[in-house]
Amino acid sequence: MRDDAPVRGPDGVPEVTLPGVVDRHVHLGLVDRALLADGPVTEVHDLGWDPREAATWAADPPSGIRVRYAGPFHAAPGGYPTGRSWAPDAAVRHVATPREAAAAVADVVAVGGFAVKVALHAGMPLLPDDVLRALVTQAHAAGLAVLVHAEGDGQARRAIDVGADALVHVPWTEALPDALIARAAHMTWISTFAIHDGPGRPAGLELALDNARRFVAEGGTLVYGTDMGNGPTPVGVNEREIELLGRVLEGEALRRAVLGPPSAPALTAPFPPPETATDLITWLRASRRLPRLPR
Ligand SMILES: [Zn+2]
Repeated sequence: MRDDAPVRGPDGVPEVTLPGVVDRHVHLGLVDRALLADGPVTEVHDLGWDPREAATWAADPPSGIRVRYAGPFHAAPGGYPTGRSWAPDAAVRHVATPREAAAAVADVVAVGGFAVKVALHAGMPLLPDDVLRALVTQAHAAGLAVLVHAEGDGQARRAIDVGADALVHVPWTEALPDALIARAAHMTWISTFAIHDGPGRPAGLELALDNARRFVAEGGTLVYGTDMGNGPTPVGVNEREIELLGRVLEGEALRRAVLGPPSAPALTAPFPPPETATDLITWLRASRRLPRLPR
């Protein structure tokens, strides 16, 4: 089927088909995964859990969902999220030396992880530069992207300067200088704006939106991700996340950020293609799954 093949709904109304929603930052260990079945979300990326458990979700996912997983957080001994009530011990891999970094990356490969998740969280023990560099070098040698949780002064800079591929949260703890954002333009940043939301104009959200606008202006790739499982996040489409992304992107860029590749049409709903965040939310609410095509 062509991406733009005209489809008619049950009452003969012309419809547009689009790919499903891809949530590039979730924690399936913290939600009722069954609620995702056959909804508008068609792919999720788990960014931190016991890798053996994550592998079982990918092998036996909720109906109609593709699950990809990074495996554990890689952190300095005692580093984030060690000791957090939500994080099982096996969700954190402590890495103290470059040699341990090589072993840790080999374990991600062995368990089928699609990327190496790294935590740089100021205020808790931090990976030293040589260990951080080894994680990136080893991951890239294995063909894996490096996805960094960067929180607190200077940590986004470290991630950018070491050659990380993605930030799993748009930086929200500081305004990054323009020159640093320009150096990050090859990266992907995952939105997670809604976790900073609250009454008034929350400072973290405003900082994140400002960093994101300047990142996109430099040509950076901003994508939808919700941190599903972090607090009371909806299990499924996070409409607030789309609304906030709509403050930075619109039209084709917004659709590309929220939806999967155009080669994989999965949803259908009445015309026209959604241009704004409000359109997209309305379109997704009206959408139905296309019958799966024979391969
Ligand atoms: Zn997360």
